[in-house]
Amino acid sequence: MARKWNMIVDISRCENCRNCFLVTKDEHIGNDFPGYAASQPAHGHSWIDIQRKERGSYPIVEANFMPVMCNHCDDAPCMKVAQNGAISKRADGIVIIDPKKSKGQKQIVDACPYGAVYWNEEKQIPQAWIFDAHLLDQGWTKTRVETSCPTGVYRSIKIEDQAMQRLTEQEGLEVLQPELGTKPRVYYKNLHLMTQCFVAGSVAVNVEGVEECAEGAQVILKQNGSEIARATTDIFGEFKIDKVKKNSGQYELEVNSDVSMQFDLGDESLYLGTIRLAVGVAAAGS
Ligand code: SF4
Ligand code: SF4
Repeated sequence: MARKWNMIVDISRCENCRNCFLVTKDEHIGNDFPGYAASQPAHGHSWIDIQRKERGSYPIVEANFMPVMCNHCDDAPCMKVAQNGAISKRADGIVIIDPKKSKGQKQIVDACPYGAVYWNEEKQIPQAWIFDAHLLDQGWTKTRVETSCPTGVYRSIKIEDQAMQRLTEQEGLEVLQPELGTKPRVYYKNLHLMTQCFVAGSVAVNVEGVEECAEGAQVILKQNGSEIARATTDIFGEFKIDKVKKNSGQYELEVNSDVSMQFDLGDESLYLGTIRLAVGVAAAGS
């Protein structure tokens, strides 16, 4: 079975330094690679697009970043609308939009459900990240975006599909919008940082009239009476339960089995405020 290219993107490692975005511009602005890509315009294109998601609220808040690019789909919607053989999938899995044959075919931009194709107004062609195929074909063993990233977000690997399937299961990798059936070759690790919510809070206890952080408190998240997840508060009395689905309804939170509170989860992460032990009633909001 043939070995094919795949890209693994670990969202937890991205610091938004934008090196990968910039080296892609450096590679393509003013440079034509016949058979791969015409030059990228100086402005307006983000072949590697760094998307941002903030979660939580003060004091437990975080910003996460996700590079989004052409997924080199195995069942690519862009190929279905391309005429004149303008888009091809190579034996190694890489999808190439031919810079000559695609002239005038703006429908290719609209067909990509990931917004990964950009229209070059001057040249009248659709363009996307080419997996650095022109470099790989010269013998590079990694993509340029991978070599540019200081925090090891990217892993470009050429392996058989079965081996990639095993890796996907072992590492809990996910693809964007799997429900579309496009079979992307770009896989994400820690995608929950962009797509799911956390529930967090602070636990305090009254010690001889002084409110102290309650380290080591047991926090249990329940839904319909069943435990969903649990956590232990840290030295600051804080807890965070991650990977909770958006808009997933009503929950009950129990702390040390003697304080409980209810809340509804919408489409954003929740900081529940300070939960005070030893007063019999949980209070949301410090
Ligand atoms: S991500 Fe978009 S442009 Fe890239 S192969 Fe898939 S459908 Fe085509
Ligand atoms: S180079 Fe790495 S850390 Fe910087 S924006 Fe790109 S993926 Fe994120």
